[in-house]
Amino acid sequence: MSKVLEGRVAVITGASSGIGEAAAEHLAELGAQVVVLARRADRLAELVARIEKNGGQALALSVDVADAASVQAAADRVAADFGGADLLFNNAGVMLPAPVEQQRSDQWQREIDTNITGLMNAVGAFVPQLVASAQARGVADLINTSSIGAKNIYPNFAVYAGTKAFVTHTSRTLRAELGAKGVRVSAVEPGLVRTELQDHVTDAASNEWLDGVKDSLEWLTAEDVARLVGFLASQPPHVNLEQVTIMPTAQG
Ligand code: NDP
Repeated sequence: MSKVLEGRVAVITGASSGIGEAAAEHLAELGAQVVVLARRADRLAELVARIEKNGGQALALSVDVADAASVQAAADRVAADFGGADLLFNNAGVMLPAPVEQQRSDQWQREIDTNITGLMNAVGAFVPQLVASAQARGVADLINTSSIGAKNIYPNFAVYAGTKAFVTHTSRTLRAELGAKGVRVSAVEPGLVRTELQDHVTDAASNEWLDGVKDSLEWLTAEDVARLVGFLASQPPHVNLEQVTIMPTAQG
């Protein structure tokens, strides 16, 4: 595979499974040094071992994105070890659909803490490095994982969809702010991707609905989305795909 990202330093949040894990492997295959962040240190260690076995370079940092101090400590480590990141794939997230009458305020809060506060903690900690890299080397990427839930309407997904609408809109706003400084900003909006995301859903009806859709069509794989992330980062520095929706062909 051509090493189009040679010399680049990519930080990936939510890298212990699913889309983030696949993206870390793909970006490493494209030549980037990757720093993988999530809470499950054992899964990150396995990922780093796989990347290194394939000739790549990777560092794992155990981080809870909802904890601003822990994200800042990771950013400080990336600055010390690599001279800063020039790509942030801001991808950690949780999806906990349920009828609103269930009043699962604990789950609403987890979605808000991870998908909104966590996303912004990473933006705050890493954007100074992205700006510095764009000015010094002419390229930097902030790629945020949103969802088709940002614009489509699905019953029981009110808070999750709201957090993803935040991701898409904030990405566009940040692009207007950071583009002038040479940092590309993209929102990736996937449809259904086969990952561990559904494993945390506690509402039986939501699980039944997801299982039904799962059986009725071929979902995207995490690798499909990972290739898109590699594509965005491989464009010439003056080309910024602002918002990309990636869907299973058969999903309506
Ligand atoms: P997974 O559940 O497989 O991956 C989620 C990742 O987020 C894990 O690595 C998890 O790691 C990490 N994470 C969750 N909470 C935290 C936290 N507090 N701090 C640090 N890391 C955290 O699901 P996906 O790969 O599908 O999800 C990735 C992104 O894609 C999410 O933002 C999701 O909303 C989005 N998405 C997914 C779709 C799908 O159909 N799968 C569709 C559209 C969007 P750990 O638990 O080890 O911390």
